[in-house]
Amino acid sequence: EKFKQGLSKTRDNFASKVNDLVARYRKVDEDFFEELEEILIGADVGFNTVMELVEELKMEVKKKNIQDPAEVQSVISEKLVEIYQGDTKTPNTINIQSEGLTVILFVGVNGVGKTTTIGKLAHKYKTDGKKVILAAGDTFRAGAIDQLEVWGQRVGVDVIKQGEGSDPAAVMYDAIQAAKARKADILLCDTAGRLQNKVNLMNELEKVKRVIEREIPNAPHEVLLVLDATTGQNAMVQAKTFKEVTDVSGIVLTKLDGTAKGGIVLAIRNELEIPVKFVGLGEKMDDLQEFDPEKYVYGLFS
Ligand code: GDP
Repeated sequence: EKFKQGLSKTRDNFASKVNDLVARYRKVDEDFFEELEEILIGADVGFNTVMELVEELKMEVKKKNIQDPAEVQSVISEKLVEIYQGDTKTPNTINIQSEGLTVILFVGVNGVGKTTTIGKLAHKYKTDGKKVILAAGDTFRAGAIDQLEVWGQRVGVDVIKQGEGSDPAAVMYDAIQAAKARKADILLCDTAGRLQNKVNLMNELEKVKRVIEREIPNAPHEVLLVLDATTGQNAMVQAKTFKEVTDVSGIVLTKLDGTAKGGIVLAIRNELEIPVKFVGLGEKMDDLQEFDPEKYVYGLFS
């Protein structure tokens, strides 16, 4: 239900248009596919992904000798799910350790919803019975530390911090010691997201990761890039840049409730080969969902 509600704008823009297209055409021809392409591009599915999808659709239509546009609709859903799922090597789920501390690092530019996502995830894991600690690693942006503390209080989890302008790697070191001492299960780490200076950002993230890895082998277990779905193709550009700067294991796509262009999920998965692991569907604590491609696609069309 939540999923459906949160996706209502995309449903109106995208799924309704597909439904309308299917209703208007008597047979599946070139014009039909051209209109479909336009709808998909309008929903931010991304040019390359649209071309690939439509090519596959055409082949499927030919193979199965489909004449009726209504029948194409189910094939569209199938193909969308296939693309969302991508290769099975990169799992959609979070790599939570069965024993010991799991460290998750969050990266992304300011304003995308990084702090909110950390708060929401803290709430989710706490509700699951895990002991969660937050690390205020964005020591650069004024207010970032306070904002994380507000979320910590709201959710009821500890926040490890130092002053504004302090070394993020030192904050991480403190946070890991605290997490070990308090026998925490999950450490969620905020970081500063300055894309203006790629070299600085890269160095900072590398240093943070080194400190974490030195204390806990194989950590961080996830590096989640937070992207704002309402920024459309700009989110793609950010994703490409972050991919160059660090190893990103998954994406959190926020503000899907605020966009009619939810097709961006598809473009990201397909063109960057990074799985979308969570989607943000609102500003509240429980407005974060694990991303399930089947639920997503069938939620769109139902
Ligand atoms: P940060 O600078 O990346 O840490 O971004 P914030 O966490 O401060 O979020 C920026 C704004 O986006 C805030 O007003 C949040 O309430 C809002 N926000 C975050 N996630 C979502 C979401 O999934 N949906 C909606 N509608 N708003 C969101």
